[in-house]
Amino acid sequence: EMLLEIEHLYKSYDNNPPVLKDISFQIQKGEVIVILGPSGCGKSTLLRCLNGLEVFQAGNIKLDGESITRSKKDWPQIRQKIGMVFQSYDLFAHMTVMENILLGPIKVQKRNKEEASLQAEKLLERVGLSDKKDAYPRQLSGGQKQRVAIVRALCMNPEILLFDEVTAALDPEMVREVLDVILELAKAGTTMAIVTHEMKFAKAVADRILFIDQGEIIEENTPKAFFENP
Ligand code: ADP
Ligand code: ADP
Repeated sequence: EMLLEIEHLYKSYDNNPPVLKDISFQIQKGEVIVILGPSGCGKSTLLRCLNGLEVFQAGNIKLDGESITRSKKDWPQIRQKIGMVFQSYDLFAHMTVMENILLGPIKVQKRNKEEASLQAEKLLERVGLSDKKDAYPRQLSGGQKQRVAIVRALCMNPEILLFDEVTAALDPEMVREVLDVILELAKAGTTMAIVTHEMKFAKAVADRILFIDQGEIIEENTPKAFFENP
C-alpha cells in the first residue's frame, strides 16, 4: 500500500542553482528507504521538504494518495503524520524526558494525559530508558538523548519517520545503541526514510537504497544489488 509519492520535486535556495532537480520516488507502508549520497547532494533538503520545513518550487508530494498542499496552514497537521528525528536532538533543557515526549501528544494532538503517558512509558521501555523518564536532557548521554528524541517522534503515532543523520553527532560508542533502536523499529514494520553515512547499517536496515548525486537520484536498488555492484 502506497504511503508517500514524491513527484518531480524541484528545490533551490534563493536564486542559486537547484539543490533538488527532479526527484521522484515512492514509499510503501512498512518500507524502509535509505538515502545515500555525497555531502551537499541534497539529502537533508529532501527530508526537510517532505515534512514542510522547506518550501519547494515545483513538484508534488502525495501522502496516502492525497496531494499535500503547500499552504502553510496544513503543515502542522501533516507533520503529525510525517515525524522527523534530527542530528541535534532538540530536547527542551528545562523539561524532563517525559515532559519533552508528552508535549506533542498533549499540546498538539490534545490527547488524554494518562493514555499518552502510558504509551510514552512503553516506548521508553522499548528503547531501554524506563529509568530516565524524570531525568533532564543534561543528565543524559548523546545516545540517550537521541533515543528520547526517537520516542518523542514515535509517540505522535506518525505514519512515517524521517531520520536525518541521527548518529552523526554522537561519540562512536553511542552510535550502535541508536542504530539498534532503528533496526528494531524496522523489524516491527515502521515505515522510515533514513539519511545516514553508516554503510553497514544501511545495508542491514534498508528495503531499498536511493543514491543521490547533485540533486538527482542516480541509482535506486535493493541493498544487496547496490552494495554488490559498485
Ligand atoms: P546533504 O544533506 O546531502 O549534505 P543538504 O541538503 O544539506 O545536503 O545541502 C544541499 C545543498 O544546499 C548544499 O549545497 C548546501 O550548501 C545548500 N543548502 C542547504 N541548506 C541551505 C539553506 N538553508 N540556504 C542555502 N543553501 C542551503
Ligand atoms: P554528544 O554525543 O552530544 O557529544 P556525549 O554523549 O558526549 O554527547 O555526552 C554529552 C555530555 O553528557 C558530556 O558532558 C558527558 O560527560 C555527559 N554524559 C555522557 N554520558 C553520560 C551519562 N551516562 N550520564 C550523565 N552524563 C553523561
